[in-house]
Amino acid sequence: MVFYTPGRTTSYPQDKVDSGVRFHFLGGAQEVGNVGCVIEDKTGTRLLVDYGLSPGDPPTYPDECPSIDAAIITHGHLDHIGMVPWISANHGCPIYSTDLTEALAPMMWHDTYKISKIEGHPLPWDKRDIEETADVWESVQFGEIRNTGKWSWKLHPAGHVPGAAMIELELPECRILWTGDIDVRDSPNVSGAKPISTDILVMEGTYGGREHPDRKEEEARFIQKIQEVVARGGVAIVPAFASGRGQDILRLLYHADPNLRVHYDGMGKRVTRHWMDHPHHIKNAEEWDKIWRWVRRISSKSDRKKALHGDVIVTTSGMLKGGPVLWYLNRLKEDPESAVLITGYQAEGTGGEMLLEEGKLPIYGTITKIACEVERYYLSNHCGHNHLVEFAKNTGAKHVVLFHLPDEAIEPLRASIEENGQRVHVPKNSIPLDIEF
Ligand SMILES: [Zn+2]
Ligand SMILES: [Zn+2]
Repeated sequence: MVFYTPGRTTSYPQDKVDSGVRFHFLGGAQEVGNVGCVIEDKTGTRLLVDYGLSPGDPPTYPDECPSIDAAIITHGHLDHIGMVPWISANHGCPIYSTDLTEALAPMMWHDTYKISKIEGHPLPWDKRDIEETADVWESVQFGEIRNTGKWSWKLHPAGHVPGAAMIELELPECRILWTGDIDVRDSPNVSGAKPISTDILVMEGTYGGREHPDRKEEEARFIQKIQEVVARGGVAIVPAFASGRGQDILRLLYHADPNLRVHYDGMGKRVTRHWMDHPHHIKNAEEWDKIWRWVRRISSKSDRKKALHGDVIVTTSGMLKGGPVLWYLNRLKEDPESAVLITGYQAEGTGGEMLLEEGKLPIYGTITKIACEVERYYLSNHCGHNHLVEFAKNTGAKHVVLFHLPDEAIEPLRASIEENGQRVHVPKNSIPLDIEF
């Protein structure tokens, strides 16, 4: 395992920027996850956006970050914040995000730390670094103007998940809009992102070349299946990510049928408490008090046993890689009346992917056949192709830099965006992209 020797192992160029803007992706360029990008211009101002990791087996990490004036973190998903404690341990600089992202981050790191110990994967930061990071972290409200070096910047809502931000940067010679992960559609808990006028747009492209099914229709199909499973006497297990999807599912179920006996287990419970403490990021936040009282929260082994006789279990992990979901599945695995309803992206090598393809998955080290019905629903919190292209067009950007995207998304996105007369750049990790303006 190669880890960094600060200042000596970075891919960042030594030379100064003479003109234009330099974007140097440490990770997350032509890949989904692992995001980290250094932006610099001739004023010498140098900013880092996000510093994440990809929690695969083994996890992957971005390049070493050079010294920077500040870091801005778009949102609390691990592929955007997983490596931030390394920054505070090695470069003393301020770190900014929205208040909700700030609140969620330590929980994500402690969980990452725990998993790395269990799985035996090294991490380049320590528990102590988590505390140091909290000391240099500053939260920023949407629309509040901040200065770093010779630049000013502010955050705007990105849709995606509550607290997720886009970054609008004002450099002496041009403006940059960094989307982070975005969705322009309204979801159960957050309103969609609105385009901001800019010169250079840096945009994620996770779903480039693909369209999502209509969200309302997909939600209706999901609810219908839940009712079918309950009517036949089974339990619907809904594996869901702790931050975003789980809470979307709870709100959907609450609206569809408050008589359903819905159990909620895993780290999502703590995430939801943070949401409730930051209601300004949540759509119709006051309803969460009712949902919180309605949902049956699991806090003990006997609660878990009761949940096996309920209607729905919403729990982590979303990709069926660890978490309480395996405990439930192990007990319901032989019941064809029960169902596993997959609602999120399943990365390669995860239990969720194996279950969808082969009807089995590893539970506590044993590949286990699952007799339950398995169904998949597309409830993404990212823009589909047409929304990305339209968003790019509406910013009026002359240059569009695409990142956070799989290989197959590159050419379809490039073609559609160029049709609108915008210049497209698809950078590579570890190689600087210079844009003259
Ligand atoms: Zn992401
Ligand atoms: Zn995300």
